[in-house]
Amino acid sequence: MNNPSRYKDPSGHTPCGFAYSDPECPSKKETVRKPGDLWTDPPLKPDDKTLNKVRQLAGNDENLILAWLWLYNTPTGNEQALWIVSNNILMMWGDANQSKCEYGACMITINSSLRPLSGSDVFDQDLETQIQNELVATLAHETYHWVYGTPETGENNSQYEEYMAFFTENQIYFELTGGSLYGFDGYSVMNTAGLGGWFTDYASSYLYYPSYPPYFPLR
Ligand SMILES: [Zn+2]
Repeated sequence: MNNPSRYKDPSGHTPCGFAYSDPECPSKKETVRKPGDLWTDPPLKPDDKTLNKVRQLAGNDENLILAWLWLYNTPTGNEQALWIVSNNILMMWGDANQSKCEYGACMITINSSLRPLSGSDVFDQDLETQIQNELVATLAHETYHWVYGTPETGENNSQYEEYMAFFTENQIYFELTGGSLYGFDGYSVMNTAGLGGWFTDYASSYLYYPSYPPYFPLR
């Protein structure tokens, strides 16, 4: 436990939607839509075999199954959702957003603070919808690491890979809500200063990461 995965996202951000959220959080009024507003109409339903696999990978957790279904119903997330299934990536709650392999199983853990409430625990349905949107976007972020990175090796991640994961997260959030979590204009991320500038502004706890992955030609 004293050996933190390099894929841990140590940003320490407060999820948007709370009174004390980070200043970059969008205003709730502008962005919270009813579930399904921007979905395919009617929503895409995976075949039974796929859905059963999703249930299994999510440990039958209703929130995680629903998050997968929402991801599946976004234009950008559809392939990602299927990638999770065909590559047997477990989805579970944890104390951090993380992509890793442990004891022979590969997984995405999602910070439990993104677990929506249900039933009589709900005092603000808009807030729960907001958390659900961020949960889906976070699932997309972590899935990016699986598709394009190498979390299974435990080797160094890079700012550039994180930047692209945040970009994907934001894209999914936009497709669900019409709003944004981060800004991307005006950063020249093909040089280390520009890339570092983005992390200084949005996720400074990643600044100690190497700027680019080893395969990147412009280091
Ligand atoms: Zn990440």
